[in-house]
Amino acid sequence: MTKQICIVGGGISGLCTAYHLKKKGYGVLLIEKNKNCGGNIQTEKDGDFLIEWGPNSVLRSPHLIELLDEIGLINEIANANLTSKKRYVLRGSNLQALPTGVANFIRTDFLSNQTKLKILREPFVKSKSNEKESVADFFRRRFGQEIVDYALDPFVSGIYAGNPEKLSLKYAFPRLFELEKRFGSVIKGFIGARNENKIAPKFKKFSRTLSFKHGMRTLVEKLVELLRNEIKTNTEVSGISKSENGRFQIQTNDEQTSNRIFDAVVIAAPSYAAGRLVEDFDRELAENLKQIYHPPLVVVVSAFRREDVNFDLDGFGFLVPKVEKRRILGSLWSSVIFENRAPAEFYLMTTFIGGVRNAELFDESDEILFNLAFEELNDLLGLKNKPVFQKIRRWERAIPQYNLGYEKVVDSIESFKMENPGFLFCSNFYRGVSVGDCIKSSLTTSEEVSDYLRKNF
Ligand SMILES: Cc1cc2nc3c(=O)[nH]c(=O)nc-3n(C[C@H](O)[C@H](O)[C@H](O)COP(=O)(O)OP(=O)(O)OC[C@H]3O[C@@H](n4cnc5c(N)ncnc54)[C@H](O)[C@@H]3O)c2cc1C
Repeated sequence: MTKQICIVGGGISGLCTAYHLKKKGYGVLLIEKNKNCGGNIQTEKDGDFLIEWGPNSVLRSPHLIELLDEIGLINEIANANLTSKKRYVLRGSNLQALPTGVANFIRTDFLSNQTKLKILREPFVKSKSNEKESVADFFRRRFGQEIVDYALDPFVSGIYAGNPEKLSLKYAFPRLFELEKRFGSVIKGFIGARNENKIAPKFKKFSRTLSFKHGMRTLVEKLVELLRNEIKTNTEVSGISKSENGRFQIQTNDEQTSNRIFDAVVIAAPSYAAGRLVEDFDRELAENLKQIYHPPLVVVVSAFRREDVNFDLDGFGFLVPKVEKRRILGSLWSSVIFENRAPAEFYLMTTFIGGVRNAELFDESDEILFNLAFEELNDLLGLKNKPVFQKIRRWERAIPQYNLGYEKVVDSIESFKMENPGFLFCSNFYRGVSVGDCIKSSLTTSEEVSDYLRKNF
């Protein structure tokens, strides 16, 4: 009989895991709590505007492109415009373009001579890898405080809405941790490893940052279409228990699916939901998962008439270092990055407020947050008029923070998997938070499931 697998959660992690397992010939049932799948991926079409409330883009990688090729989405890819390569960082009262590449870092006026010297010396700084080091300590040690303040801190805000003093280097940026270990230096590591993860030449035409012509939702819709008979939405998994012969029984709020038995289970729900579902199996893991901090984040989208913006919007957007003491984390110039995000006479901007830095702002009213976004943008970009519209979306628990001590989470997941074979995880709290990480992780998880089923049944 065909082996049956239950996947709990229909975000990108769950959808991709279900897709790979179905492809391997297993029977899958993906259960999603909400009316629609997608989780954090939420694209809204409002007239001729296209708004991304969650991820705006995904980084090009071999496994991503292979997946898109396989499911027929290659022609739907939207490349980022060349101009968007420029990334601005606020310094003083000016937005300054962040240099790209080591050579440009040395030439720029953006950094002091002292920091430039530190960059030049980095390849010769002896490796002192420490598994319990924060991202900020790592960069301070190798490049100095100015790089922490003006390059690392805004970069970390852009990915995690997090605090680099608290994020664990090993878990939040495993590649940097590994490069230092292997090459003794970040710069030497990037040079030495430049041929790894190479993309096939035929896919080089795609930009490093990409989306889809109709937004990130395209990827979700395609996977949902391919799994149309295997998805049950509006259904919440409330419990999982062990059944006979190493199988699993799930409880849901729906008669059809509740008490069904599966040969394997994959949790693809956020950590706070996963914590509840593993409680009866392993209290320690449940506690560790529930304690992962997800800072709140507000997304304010604003549309301005082009003639009302005094700044030349020739970039991806800007990020704000903490030391600049502003009330926003940064803003993406969404309609500059990708085509068809706004009618030609408008700019669409996506501004982030809150995160670890200003979590308290999450509770402010819509009106206050709209004003705040406008005032900050006005101050930096010189706006002649108010936006033609603004919209808001609140993420009460946005992105899991891989903070110092995260080995507790990862170690307890690994020992849980040993104790409970056939019970697996694929979610943004496990092997990386980006959409690309989740897609890659789904490949590993589907391999783990099929290994288990092959060996045990
Ligand atoms: C505002 C924002 C901007 C971001 N920007 C980017 C970006 O530009 N690029 C990038 O790569 N990444 C970005 N990310 C991160 C990335 O989007 C997420 O980490 C990723 O989408 C998480 O996918 P997931 O499937 O693991 O989890 P989720 O998307 O959280 O999906 C989990 C699903 O599980 C369901 N669920 C929960 N409990 C149950 C239950 N008991 N039973 C059934 N279903 C359940 C939920 O309803 C949800 O649909 C961003 C995230 C946010 C919040």
